[in-house]
Amino acid sequence: MAIPDHLTLEIVTPERAVVSEQVDEVLVPGAEGSFGVLPGHTPLLAMLQVGELWYRRGDETSYVAVSFGFAEVQPDRVTVLAQIAETAEDIDVTRAEEAQGRAQGRLDQPVVDMDFERARLALLKSLTRLQVAGRARIRG
Ligand code: ATP
Repeated sequence: MAIPDHLTLEIVTPERAVVSEQVDEVLVPGAEGSFGVLPGHTPLLAMLQVGELWYRRGDETSYVAVSFGFAEVQPDRVTVLAQIAETAEDIDVTRAEEAQGRAQGRLDQPVVDMDFERARLALLKSLTRLQVAGRARIRG
């Protein structure tokens, strides 16, 4: 089979379609590590972790904060079904900074019966949002 020219990238959450684009390359934050996808990739299904996904179209790279869900890879498409997905423009930086402060405070001063995993994930989500919000579209 011929190698496709592009990938169709679809990123959807239960609420909305976040990205629907023809792209050249995608980096997916998989639960077992981030992995890159180029056209012609072997089909696979991967769970997502909380992290930054990026995709490149020509020399333009765009970033999306994703949390939980699945990525399905086919030779000509990547479909991401995420619980949460936000582009840099979607992210409220003040809200993410406040969430970071709360999560960091809980982890710094744990109380009895604290849910560490919840606090760790809240910190990771807020840091990922701040990272994505801080990225301008990069050219070249
Ligand atoms: P917070 O503690 O600020 O509510 P959270 O990590 O608990 O953050 P989530 O449960 O991950 O929030 O998300 C709930 C909804 O709020 C989702 O639709 C998510 O996209 C949105 N959301 C959360 N934080 C932000 C943010 N900083 N900017 C924009 N949207 C956000």
